[in-house]
Amino acid sequence: MVKAIVGANWGDEGKGKITDMLAQDADIIVRFQGGANAGHTIVNKYGKFALHTLPSGVFYDHTTSIIGNGVALNVPKLFEEVKSITDKGVPMPKLLVSDRAQMVMPYHIDFDRFEEERLGKNSFGSTKSGIAPFYSDKYSKIGFQVSELYGDTESLKAKIARVAEIKNAMLVNLYHKPALDEKDLFNTLMEYKKMLDPFVCDTSAFLWKALKEGKTVLLEGQLGSLKDPDHGIYPMVTSSSTLAAYGAIGAGVPPYEIKQIVTVCKAYSSAVGAGAFVSEIFGDEADELRRRGGDGGEYGATTGRPRRMGWFDCVASKYGCRIQGTTDVAFTVLDVLGYLDEIPVCVGYDIDGEVTTDFPTTVMLEKAKPVLKKLPGWKCDIRGIKKYEDLPENCRNYIEFVEKEIGFPITMISNGPGRDDIIYRNK
Ligand code: GDP
Repeated sequence: MVKAIVGANWGDEGKGKITDMLAQDADIIVRFQGGANAGHTIVNKYGKFALHTLPSGVFYDHTTSIIGNGVALNVPKLFEEVKSITDKGVPMPKLLVSDRAQMVMPYHIDFDRFEEERLGKNSFGSTKSGIAPFYSDKYSKIGFQVSELYGDTESLKAKIARVAEIKNAMLVNLYHKPALDEKDLFNTLMEYKKMLDPFVCDTSAFLWKALKEGKTVLLEGQLGSLKDPDHGIYPMVTSSSTLAAYGAIGAGVPPYEIKQIVTVCKAYSSAVGAGAFVSEIFGDEADELRRRGGDGGEYGATTGRPRRMGWFDCVASKYGCRIQGTTDVAFTVLDVLGYLDEIPVCVGYDIDGEVTTDFPTTVMLEKAKPVLKKLPGWKCDIRGIKKYEDLPENCRNYIEFVEKEIGFPITMISNGPGRDDIIYRNK
């Protein structure tokens, strides 16, 4: 069977921890979208790791890690990451890379940077990892698929010339930068081929066979529902679909095999990049939550930038869970809220004087003001608690309030960054 682990919000909900935890009982973990532009932070017996491309199951010997066809594959970054974990004593992961994955080229990263510079104060807050230029090229059919490294050299060179012509028109005329060198591009691709060669295969055929044999497959999403290009806060979104449904495409598995969709929701909100964020808080209140948040503060795993902070948003999370097709909610980082006397929760959006609990499109979202309700805090440390009944009453009330508002069952509660900091709740 296939289980998807995805985010309900803007990302950074703690998907890495939940995937790492569920990987104990899984055989294969697949990254199906996105690239090295976001990171999962994982704390386990080997130490603390920020993963950007590798799936969060790489720490076990019994799992196979797959980079699916939907991923924006930054080849040097992938191997830097493999080295960064093996240097810390983690055994070399069993890694497979889809022959249908496309590669992020160095010029994608340059284009990302040049465009953000050109936009100035209107920039998207991109991580400048080349993701938007990469996916634009994929859908313009001028991307480079791993399989093309194995075709005939002349065709590859002809394609490079065609791509360079388009890229150079923009580089020279729009950005006033030096043109690309076709020979350099060819050499870069041959370098990538050498690095990838031992890992490349038809991963969808591998997964098909594994599913026939009754193996358990996890699909690990990056970012969250609100960053989906179709269903999120367009245009302040990422460039590949962040939804579980896309897992079928980005991994190459039948959609009907996805039996469980675990949507990860953080007990408060955080966001990176620009865009409407209705329950956002500022000043000392935000600084304190940011400092106490996650495991060592809410700072980007890829960029180190301070994340924008806010209270839990029931409107956004209800929508985020619905659009994912949630079967289970994993409610994370709840331990962090133990310092508050009262915990505000956003229960509605006031748009031009009318209150709604339906998440609107971006134009309306920009006008939304949060309707807050304050719930009593529990004022103690809940780390180490293993049973739901042992949580303080106000803490259970907070969970049950959120569950009712979002309308999806919270079956897992994460009360610490470690693999074992989890409370299962049978619904
Ligand atoms: P992801 O991209 O969705 O995997 O999320 P991130 O890794 O960016 O952010 C989650 C952060 O919260 C990481 O630093 C995790 O170690 C940490 N974390 C995850 N679950 C919990 C939890 O239940 N409690 C605490 N305190 N930290 C957690």
